[in-house]
Amino acid sequence: MHSKVENFIPANMLPIDFHCHSTFSDGSYNVEKVMDMAKANGGKYIALTDHDTVIGVKKAREYCQKIGLIFFAGVEISVTWEKNNLVHILGLNIDENNQILIDNLNKLRSNRYSRGQKIAENLAKAGIPNALEGAMKYCTNVEALSRTHFLHFLVEGGYAKPGKAFEKYLAPGKIGYVPQVWANLNDAVNWITGSGGIAVIAHPSRYKFTRTKLLRLIDDFKQCGGRGIEVISSSHSKEDSCNIATIANNHDLLCSIGSDFHTLETFRTIRVGINHPLPYDNCKAIYTELGIRQNDLNINLAD
Ligand code: AMP
Ligand code: MN
Ligand code: MN
Ligand code: MN
Repeated sequence: MHSKVENFIPANMLPIDFHCHSTFSDGSYNVEKVMDMAKANGGKYIALTDHDTVIGVKKAREYCQKIGLIFFAGVEISVTWEKNNLVHILGLNIDENNQILIDNLNKLRSNRYSRGQKIAENLAKAGIPNALEGAMKYCTNVEALSRTHFLHFLVEGGYAKPGKAFEKYLAPGKIGYVPQVWANLNDAVNWITGSGGIAVIAHPSRYKFTRTKLLRLIDDFKQCGGRGIEVISSSHSKEDSCNIATIANNHDLLCSIGSDFHTLETFRTIRVGINHPLPYDNCKAIYTELGIRQNDLNINLAD
Protein backbone atom coordinates (compact mmCIF):
# COMPACT_ATOMS: atom_id res chain seq x y z
CA MET A 1 0.00 0.00 0.00
CA HIS A 2 1.28 3.43 -0.89
CA SER A 3 0.64 6.02 1.75
CA LYS A 4 1.00 8.82 -0.78
CA VAL A 5 -0.27 8.55 -4.33
CA GLU A 6 1.80 10.64 -6.70
CA ASN A 7 0.27 11.72 -9.97
CA PHE A 8 -3.07 10.19 -9.14
CA ILE A 9 -5.52 10.68 -11.94
CA PRO A 10 -9.06 9.42 -12.07
CA ALA A 11 -9.78 6.34 -14.17
CA ASN A 12 -10.68 7.10 -17.78
CA MET A 13 -8.78 10.36 -17.98
CA LEU A 14 -5.83 10.88 -20.32
CA PRO A 15 -2.63 12.57 -19.06
CA ILE A 16 -2.68 14.92 -22.06
CA ASP A 17 -3.55 18.61 -22.35
CA PHE A 18 -3.06 20.44 -25.63
CA HIS A 19 -4.68 23.76 -24.65
CA CYS A 20 -3.92 25.99 -21.66
CA HIS A 21 -3.03 29.58 -20.79
CA SER A 22 -0.55 31.40 -18.56
CA THR A 23 -0.03 35.02 -17.50
CA PHE A 24 1.68 35.56 -20.87
CA SER A 25 -1.91 35.93 -22.12
CA ASP A 26 -5.10 35.81 -20.06
CA GLY A 27 -4.37 32.94 -17.68
CA SER A 28 -4.22 33.66 -13.95
CA TYR A 29 -1.03 31.70 -13.17
CA ASN A 30 2.52 31.94 -14.41
CA VAL A 31 4.00 29.20 -16.58
CA GLU A 32 5.71 27.41 -13.71
CA LYS A 33 2.54 27.29 -11.63
CA VAL A 34 0.45 26.04 -14.57
CA MET A 35 2.94 23.24 -15.25
CA ASP A 36 3.18 22.35 -11.56
CA MET A 37 -0.61 22.04 -11.42
CA ALA A 38 -0.67 19.91 -14.59
CA LYS A 39 1.92 17.58 -13.07
CA ALA A 40 0.12 17.40 -9.73
CA ASN A 41 -3.13 16.51 -11.52
CA GLY A 42 -1.40 13.56 -13.19
CA GLY A 43 -0.53 15.14 -16.55
CA LYS A 44 2.35 13.87 -18.71
CA TYR A 45 2.04 15.67 -22.08
CA ILE A 46 1.25 19.35 -22.32
CA ALA A 47 1.12 22.22 -24.81
CA LEU A 48 1.10 25.86 -23.72
CA THR A 49 -1.25 27.77 -26.06
CA ASP A 50 -1.29 31.42 -25.04
CA HIS A 51 -3.33 33.85 -27.14
CA ASP A 52 -1.41 35.37 -30.04
CA THR A 53 2.02 34.86 -28.50
CA VAL A 54 4.80 32.31 -28.13
CA ILE A 55 6.84 34.24 -25.57
CA GLY A 56 6.12 31.76 -22.78
CA VAL A 57 7.13 28.69 -24.77
CA LYS A 58 10.86 28.61 -24.01
CA LYS A 59 10.33 29.03 -20.28
CA ALA A 60 7.56 26.42 -20.30
CA ARG A 61 9.70 23.89 -22.17
CA GLU A 62 12.63 24.35 -19.81
CA TYR A 63 10.43 24.10 -16.77
CA CYS A 64 8.67 20.98 -18.09
CA GLN A 65 12.05 19.33 -18.63
CA LYS A 66 12.89 20.09 -15.03
CA ILE A 67 9.71 18.62 -13.55
CA GLY A 68 9.33 15.72 -16.01
CA LEU A 69 6.47 16.74 -18.30
CA ILE A 70 6.72 16.24 -22.06
CA PHE A 71 6.16 19.62 -23.68
CA PHE A 72 4.79 20.74 -27.04
CA ALA A 73 5.07 24.33 -28.24
CA GLY A 74 1.71 25.92 -28.97
CA VAL A 75 -0.24 29.08 -29.66
CA GLU A 76 -3.91 30.10 -29.97
CA ILE A 77 -4.42 32.64 -32.75
CA SER A 78 -7.40 35.04 -32.84
CA VAL A 79 -8.99 35.00 -36.30
CA THR A 80 -11.77 37.04 -37.86
CA TRP A 81 -13.60 34.75 -40.26
CA GLU A 82 -16.30 35.79 -42.76
CA LYS A 83 -16.38 39.47 -41.80
CA ASN A 84 -17.17 39.41 -38.09
CA ASN A 85 -16.90 35.95 -36.57
CA LEU A 86 -14.19 35.48 -33.94
CA VAL A 87 -12.66 32.03 -34.31
CA HIS A 88 -9.65 30.65 -32.42
CA ILE A 89 -7.07 28.53 -34.23
CA LEU A 90 -4.56 26.50 -32.24
CA GLY A 91 -1.08 25.86 -33.54
CA LEU A 92 0.42 22.71 -32.04
CA ASN A 93 4.04 21.57 -32.27
CA ILE A 94 5.05 24.88 -33.83
CA ASP A 95 8.58 26.29 -33.95
CA GLU A 96 8.51 29.23 -31.57
CA ASN A 97 11.66 30.66 -33.19
CA ASN A 98 10.03 31.00 -36.61
CA GLN A 99 10.44 34.69 -37.42
CA ILE A 100 7.38 35.00 -39.68
CA LEU A 101 5.21 33.55 -36.93
CA ILE A 102 6.75 35.81 -34.27
CA ASP A 103 6.52 39.01 -36.35
CA ASN A 104 2.89 38.43 -37.27
CA LEU A 105 1.86 37.55 -33.72
CA ASN A 106 3.55 40.74 -32.50
CA LYS A 107 1.53 42.76 -35.01
CA LEU A 108 -1.65 41.01 -33.94
CA ARG A 109 -1.06 41.85 -30.27
CA SER A 110 -0.04 45.43 -30.82
CA ASN A 111 -3.65 46.70 -30.88
CA ARG A 112 -4.76 45.07 -27.65
CA TYR A 113 -3.95 48.01 -25.41
CA SER A 114 -5.71 50.63 -27.58
CA ARG A 115 -8.75 48.34 -27.76
CA GLY A 116 -8.56 48.12 -23.94
CA GLN A 117 -8.60 51.91 -23.70
CA LYS A 118 -11.79 52.01 -25.79
CA ILE A 119 -13.38 49.25 -23.70
CA ALA A 120 -12.63 51.31 -20.58
CA GLU A 121 -14.07 54.49 -22.16
CA ASN A 122 -17.28 52.63 -22.98
CA LEU A 123 -17.54 51.17 -19.49
CA ALA A 124 -16.97 54.65 -18.00
CA LYS A 125 -19.94 55.93 -20.03
CA ALA A 126 -21.97 53.13 -18.46
CA GLY A 127 -21.00 54.34 -14.98
CA ILE A 128 -18.02 52.02 -14.40
CA PRO A 129 -14.91 54.19 -13.86
CA ASN A 130 -11.22 53.21 -13.86
CA ALA A 131 -11.68 49.97 -15.78
CA LEU A 132 -8.35 50.25 -17.61
CA GLU A 133 -6.34 50.53 -14.41
CA GLY A 134 -8.54 47.84 -12.87
CA ALA A 135 -8.01 45.39 -15.73
CA MET A 136 -4.28 46.10 -15.85
CA LYS A 137 -3.98 44.92 -12.25
CA TYR A 138 -4.55 41.41 -13.58
CA CYS A 139 -2.44 41.78 -16.71
CA THR A 140 1.35 41.40 -16.82
CA ASN A 141 1.97 43.00 -20.22
CA VAL A 142 0.02 45.71 -22.08
CA GLU A 143 0.17 43.66 -25.28
CA ALA A 144 -1.66 40.80 -23.57
CA LEU A 145 -4.60 42.93 -22.42
CA SER A 146 -7.72 40.81 -22.90
CA ARG A 147 -11.42 40.94 -22.21
CA THR A 148 -10.64 38.31 -19.56
CA HIS A 149 -8.73 40.94 -17.54
CA PHE A 150 -11.76 43.26 -17.72
CA LEU A 151 -13.89 40.34 -16.61
CA HIS A 152 -11.79 39.95 -13.45
CA PHE A 153 -12.06 43.68 -12.77
CA LEU A 154 -15.87 43.68 -13.23
CA VAL A 155 -16.29 40.72 -10.90
CA GLU A 156 -13.94 42.14 -8.28
CA GLY A 157 -15.72 45.51 -8.40
CA GLY A 158 -19.08 43.81 -7.85
CA TYR A 159 -20.41 44.97 -11.24
CA ALA A 160 -21.33 41.42 -12.24
CA LYS A 161 -21.41 37.88 -10.90
CA PRO A 162 -18.52 35.63 -12.02
CA GLY A 163 -20.53 33.64 -14.57
CA LYS A 164 -22.37 36.70 -15.94
CA ALA A 165 -19.88 39.55 -16.53
CA PHE A 166 -19.06 38.49 -20.05
CA GLU A 167 -22.63 38.28 -21.24
CA LYS A 168 -23.53 41.50 -19.42
CA TYR A 169 -20.66 43.74 -20.56
CA LEU A 170 -18.08 42.16 -22.85
CA ALA A 171 -19.86 39.97 -25.40
CA PRO A 172 -20.68 41.31 -28.91
CA GLY A 173 -23.44 43.91 -28.73
CA LYS A 174 -22.74 44.80 -25.10
CA ILE A 175 -21.44 48.19 -23.91
CA GLY A 176 -17.87 47.00 -23.29
CA TYR A 177 -17.50 45.22 -26.61
CA VAL A 178 -15.12 46.86 -29.06
CA PRO A 179 -14.89 45.04 -32.37
CA GLN A 180 -11.43 44.17 -33.54
CA VAL A 181 -10.23 42.70 -36.81
CA TRP A 182 -7.86 39.84 -36.03
CA ALA A 183 -5.85 37.64 -38.42
CA ASN A 184 -7.50 36.12 -41.44
CA LEU A 185 -7.91 32.35 -41.48
CA ASN A 186 -5.52 31.68 -44.33
CA ASP A 187 -2.73 33.74 -42.74
CA ALA A 188 -3.13 32.16 -39.30
CA VAL A 189 -3.08 28.62 -40.68
CA ASN A 190 -0.08 29.45 -42.85
CA TRP A 191 1.93 30.97 -39.99
CA ILE A 192 1.31 27.74 -38.06
CA THR A 193 2.03 25.24 -40.83
CA GLY A 194 4.94 27.39 -42.08
CA SER A 195 6.60 26.90 -38.70
CA GLY A 196 6.08 23.12 -38.84
CA GLY A 197 2.97 23.02 -36.66
CA ILE A 198 -0.49 21.53 -37.02
CA ALA A 199 -3.44 23.96 -37.16
CA VAL A 200 -6.50 22.99 -35.10
CA ILE A 201 -9.92 24.68 -34.81
CA ALA A 202 -10.33 25.48 -31.09
CA HIS A 203 -13.57 24.75 -29.15
CA PRO A 204 -15.82 24.64 -32.27
CA SER A 205 -19.08 24.23 -30.37
CA ARG A 206 -18.52 27.50 -28.52
CA TYR A 207 -19.15 29.55 -31.63
CA LYS A 208 -22.78 28.42 -31.74
CA PHE A 209 -22.63 28.25 -35.54
CA THR A 210 -25.30 26.40 -37.47
CA ARG A 211 -24.14 23.05 -38.78
CA THR A 212 -23.91 24.49 -42.31
CA LYS A 213 -21.75 27.37 -41.11
CA LEU A 214 -19.44 25.08 -39.09
CA LEU A 215 -19.01 22.83 -42.13
CA ARG A 216 -18.19 25.92 -44.21
CA LEU A 217 -15.54 26.93 -41.66
CA ILE A 218 -14.09 23.41 -41.79
CA ASP A 219 -14.05 23.50 -45.57
CA ASP A 220 -12.26 26.88 -45.64
CA PHE A 221 -9.88 25.73 -42.91
CA LYS A 222 -8.91 22.54 -44.74
CA GLN A 223 -8.35 24.46 -47.96
CA CYS A 224 -5.91 26.68 -46.05
CA GLY A 225 -4.03 23.59 -44.85
CA GLY A 226 -5.68 23.10 -41.44
CA ARG A 227 -5.75 19.52 -40.17
CA GLY A 228 -7.28 19.29 -36.71
CA ILE A 229 -10.29 20.13 -34.57
CA GLU A 230 -10.76 20.20 -30.81
CA VAL A 231 -13.17 17.47 -29.75
CA ILE A 232 -12.59 17.52 -26.01
CA SER A 233 -12.71 21.01 -24.46
CA SER A 234 -14.01 22.52 -21.24
CA SER A 235 -16.33 24.57 -23.48
CA HIS A 236 -17.96 21.36 -24.77
CA SER A 237 -20.71 19.25 -23.32
CA LYS A 238 -20.45 15.49 -23.78
CA GLU A 239 -22.94 15.81 -26.61
CA ASP A 240 -20.86 18.56 -28.26
CA SER A 241 -17.79 16.30 -28.13
CA CYS A 242 -19.67 13.41 -29.76
CA ASN A 243 -21.02 15.69 -32.52
CA ILE A 244 -17.62 17.16 -33.25
CA ALA A 245 -15.94 13.73 -33.21
CA THR A 246 -18.43 12.52 -35.83
CA ILE A 247 -17.79 15.61 -37.96
CA ALA A 248 -14.01 15.12 -37.54
CA ASN A 249 -14.27 11.51 -38.74
CA ASN A 250 -16.41 12.47 -41.73
CA HIS A 251 -14.00 15.24 -42.71
CA ASP A 252 -10.75 13.44 -41.98
CA LEU A 253 -9.65 15.81 -39.23
CA LEU A 254 -7.28 15.00 -36.38
CA CYS A 255 -9.06 15.11 -33.01
CA SER A 256 -7.48 17.22 -30.27
CA ILE A 257 -8.07 17.40 -26.53
CA GLY A 258 -7.51 20.37 -24.24
CA SER A 259 -8.68 21.86 -20.97
CA ASP A 260 -8.46 25.53 -22.12
CA PHE A 261 -7.40 26.16 -18.55
CA HIS A 262 -7.21 29.85 -17.53
CA THR A 263 -7.93 29.91 -13.82
CA LEU A 264 -9.40 27.89 -10.99
CA GLU A 265 -13.08 28.62 -11.31
CA THR A 266 -15.73 27.66 -8.85
CA PHE A 267 -18.49 27.29 -11.42
CA ARG A 268 -16.59 24.98 -13.77
CA THR A 269 -14.49 22.02 -12.73
CA ILE A 270 -11.44 22.21 -14.91
CA ARG A 271 -8.15 20.58 -14.20
CA VAL A 272 -5.14 21.44 -16.26
CA GLY A 273 -3.00 18.57 -17.54
CA ILE A 274 -5.63 15.85 -17.95
CA ASN A 275 -8.66 15.41 -20.17
CA HIS A 276 -11.45 13.04 -21.01
CA PRO A 277 -10.53 10.61 -23.79
CA LEU A 278 -11.94 10.91 -27.30
CA PRO A 279 -15.48 9.53 -27.46
CA TYR A 280 -15.02 6.94 -30.23
CA ASP A 281 -12.37 4.29 -30.87
CA ASN A 282 -12.12 5.23 -34.53
CA CYS A 283 -11.20 8.88 -33.84
CA LYS A 284 -7.88 9.89 -35.37
CA ALA A 285 -6.07 11.31 -32.36
CA ILE A 286 -3.72 14.23 -32.85
CA TYR A 287 -1.51 12.92 -30.06
CA THR A 288 -0.79 9.76 -32.09
CA GLU A 289 0.28 12.03 -34.95
CA LEU A 290 2.61 13.78 -32.51
CA GLY A 291 4.31 10.53 -31.51
CA ILE A 292 2.48 9.64 -28.31
CA ARG A 293 1.74 5.92 -28.28
CA GLN A 294 -1.22 4.27 -26.64
CA ASN A 295 1.21 2.38 -24.37
CA ASP A 296 2.53 5.69 -23.07
CA LEU A 297 -0.93 6.53 -21.80
CA ASN A 298 -1.25 3.69 -19.35
CA ILE A 299 -2.48 5.13 -16.17
CA ASN A 300 -1.04 3.75 -13.00
CA LEU A 301 -3.75 4.00 -10.46
CA ALA A 302 -2.94 3.37 -6.84
CA ASP A 303 -2.42 -0.28 -5.81
P1 AMP B 1 -10.08 38.74 -26.24
O1 AMP B 1 -9.03 37.87 -26.90
O2 AMP B 1 -9.50 39.87 -25.50
O3 AMP B 1 -11.18 39.14 -27.18
O4 AMP B 1 -10.76 37.85 -25.10
C1 AMP B 1 -11.25 36.58 -25.39
C2 AMP B 1 -11.13 35.71 -24.15
O5 AMP B 1 -12.24 35.91 -23.29
C3 AMP B 1 -11.18 34.22 -24.48
O6 AMP B 1 -9.91 33.74 -24.76
C4 AMP B 1 -11.72 33.61 -23.21
O7 AMP B 1 -10.65 33.34 -22.33
C5 AMP B 1 -12.57 34.71 -22.62
N1 AMP B 1 -14.01 34.46 -22.83
C6 AMP B 1 -14.68 34.40 -24.00
N2 AMP B 1 -16.00 34.17 -23.80
C7 AMP B 1 -16.16 34.09 -22.45
C8 AMP B 1 -17.28 33.88 -21.60
N3 AMP B 1 -18.51 33.73 -22.08
N4 AMP B 1 -17.06 33.86 -20.25
C9 AMP B 1 -15.83 34.03 -19.76
N5 AMP B 1 -14.74 34.24 -20.51
C10 AMP B 1 -14.90 34.27 -21.84
MN1 MN C 1 -8.62 33.23 -23.12
MN1 MN D 1 -10.18 30.21 -27.28
MN1 MN E 1 -7.84 29.11 -25.05
